[in-house]
Amino acid sequence: MQDQQSQSKTDDKGNSTHQVGKYKVEVIRDKCISAASCVAIAGNTFKLDEEGIAVILSQNGDDDQTKLLGAQSCPTAAIVVTDTQTGAQVWPQE
Ligand code: SF4
Repeated sequence: MQDQQSQSKTDDKGNSTHQVGKYKVEVIRDKCISAASCVAIAGNTFKLDEEGIAVILSQNGDDDQTKLLGAQSCPTAAIVVTDTQTGAQVWPQE
């Protein structure tokens, strides 16, 4: 797996480092119908595998907003977005 999040850290001098993103995305394979809108929007995050099912290419390929838009574009809500800082599910809204 290559989907470790880049974390925001503050060093001894109080400098904060850049954070790539806090959202984690997951694809529920059984729900994916290969519409590929997630790939069209967030092509650095999602790709279709050899079965035409979306898989995660990288958790850090796109920014949080783009990942969320990709998830929201899915017609079957097959993509779950979780905020790794709070543990809350961001999408689909429950
Ligand atoms: S948008 Fe949804 S249904 Fe379409 S490929 Fe992505 S996960 Fe699958």
